Amino acid sequence: MLQNLFEPITLGSVELKNRIVSTGHETFLDRGGLIDDELVAYHEARARGGAGLIITEVASVHVTARPEDKYLLAHTDDCIPGYARLAEAVHAHGAKLFAQLFHPGRFTGPFDVWAPSEVQFEWAGLTARPMPLPLIKDIIQGYGEAAGRMKEAGLDGVEIVASHGYLPMQFLNPRLNQRADEYGGSYENRMRFLIEVAEAIRENIGDDMALNIRISVDEMDHEGLDQDEALEAIQYLTERDLFDCYNTVLGSISSSSGWAHVVPPMRFDAGYTAPYSAAVKAVTDKPVLVSGRINQPQIADAIIGDGQADLCAMTRSMITDPEMPNKAKAGLLDDIRACIGCNQACIGRVDQHMSVSCIQRPESGRELAFLPVPKAEEPKSIMVVGGGPAGMKAAISAAQRGHHVTLYERESQLGGQVKLAQLLPHRAEFGGLITNFARELEIEGVEVKTNTAVTEAMVRESNADMIYLATGGSETVKPGIEGLEEGLANGTIVPSWEVIQGKAKLGGSVVIADWLSGWPGLGVAEKLALEGHSVRYVTPHTTLGRRFQTANRDLVVGSLFKLGVQTITDARIFGFDEGTAYFQHTANGEPLVLEDVDTLVMCNGVRRNDTLVHQLSDWQDRIHVIGDCMDPLDAEFAILGALMTVAATL
Ligand code: SF4
Repeated sequence: MLQNLFEPITLGSVELKNRIVSTGHETFLDRGGLIDDELVAYHEARARGGAGLIITEVASVHVTARPEDKYLLAHTDDCIPGYARLAEAVHAHGAKLFAQLFHPGRFTGPFDVWAPSEVQFEWAGLTARPMPLPLIKDIIQGYGEAAGRMKEAGLDGVEIVASHGYLPMQFLNPRLNQRADEYGGSYENRMRFLIEVAEAIRENIGDDMALNIRISVDEMDHEGLDQDEALEAIQYLTERDLFDCYNTVLGSISSSSGWAHVVPPMRFDAGYTAPYSAAVKAVTDKPVLVSGRINQPQIADAIIGDGQADLCAMTRSMITDPEMPNKAKAGLLDDIRACIGCNQACIGRVDQHMSVSCIQRPESGRELAFLPVPKAEEPKSIMVVGGGPAGMKAAISAAQRGHHVTLYERESQLGGQVKLAQLLPHRAEFGGLITNFARELEIEGVEVKTNTAVTEAMVRESNADMIYLATGGSETVKPGIEGLEEGLANGTIVPSWEVIQGKAKLGGSVVIADWLSGWPGLGVAEKLALEGHSVRYVTPHTTLGRRFQTANRDLVVGSLFKLGVQTITDARIFGFDEGTAYFQHTANGEPLVLEDVDTLVMCNGVRRNDTLVHQLSDWQDRIHVIGDCMDPLDAEFAILGALMTVAATL
């Protein structure tokens, strides 16, 4: 089983015990740019779980690389103790540790921004200053010195981040590099920066450490490098024998189209990047690492077995389940908590400058707060009411502490609102959350009683020491809208959940009034457009999918545009009458009237199912409320809240 994945491999002079890599990803677990306890604990968990190689996140090689103080720093000796502690922790579990060395060039905002040339940058809305020659030389020296610090800290390798349109590729890209000196113009000149960086690094690390380059095989951007240009560069670099491994990705952070591939969400098939790494293998004899939605060891093993890559990045797989490599090696494939590609709590939170975590495993990124799981001295009898995400997580967490747990679900299947979410276009994989949690319930020995609606009497008569109420929420329709009752009665107004479930009868012309601009509303818009309805989508918010992770939002917005959905922001519904929907602008109340509407779909979020909460209010010492019946938010916060509540109460 999985022989390809667990075959050792050598990068330069560094041997890895397997082909599973946690690639560089921002975590926001640092302290002022330095590696501290939280970041050590985070990576050590992945090393303990069996990763062969861990690559730390981007670290600035020069003071001009981090005016926002956003990244780890590698441009002063202050970084050495933290990297050394991390190397020791990772090495203790047989994994190797590389560090990413980074200068973002024109992405360094919002001020003091330098790039090869003064080219307008649409995505950031700014124009960088062209780097003077002494600054270029200084940055090249910075790469070399930063690499030397990694050697001093005891790391096994370093990686130049030349992917995603960052500084080395800004020099190579003729659309972005319009210099007339030795770093611009001819191909050799545009390659000079990268080659001098590689030479400076090698000078500082010698041959004992490996030198990787991360490179986008296609930046998928209107002015980025395409596949032919990237392959030409890899061939050119291979001929000069500069690198020990090519870490291949797709995308760029220069535009929405490129961003979608930087951390590809579930809209993309697992392993969809493998043909690109296969193209790289055709032009280099060096090991090739491939990234991009490789969420199961079987997929990784097949990619390597088919000769499409030599190593696989399984970064989100190990955010979701740090023990994935050990489980895979032991043949416990059904026990692996597979990443569902939702992007919500990992890159989604990092986008917001919050710590990395996982929707399915909130302990990730919070290792010091929640791990190891403490064992109860005296096991208690625990009753969990409601089998949605919060209830399932509470039951699992309580059972992990050694308690006897029974989970009650009134419906025939676990999952709560996840069962709806998985029905939306390109969201089927969200249902993997139910599969994963159901397996964890089984592993932890939780007794699950489905088709069981819990009453007040059942709770009062139970012998439970502690009761967690996770009774969820139901869809609400906004009260006070003129014509609502009549529209609901005659079927011209329908709630979005009925549309998702395929229960609603809809006319050809549909208007969606989405209170939140969230998945139900945008998902229904896409679903109905795909089914051939004429769709107009209206939200009171200024941004579509305002809480979505960037790639998810951009992909949905792009799809709605392609499908011809008319989207209107900053307008709230206030009435519906005989085929006319009435909205008002949120800024000044000015009316917006949409005519010829066959069906108005109301998407107004969730109200609490909190009957039991009120009925049992005299039992506050034994009752804890979690999930949507506490705060109707989303699966991520329901699961995190459940973990926090159990940790605080058991
Ligand atoms: Fe995967 Fe979603 Fe977890 Fe991110 S939050 S690691 S995409 S399951």
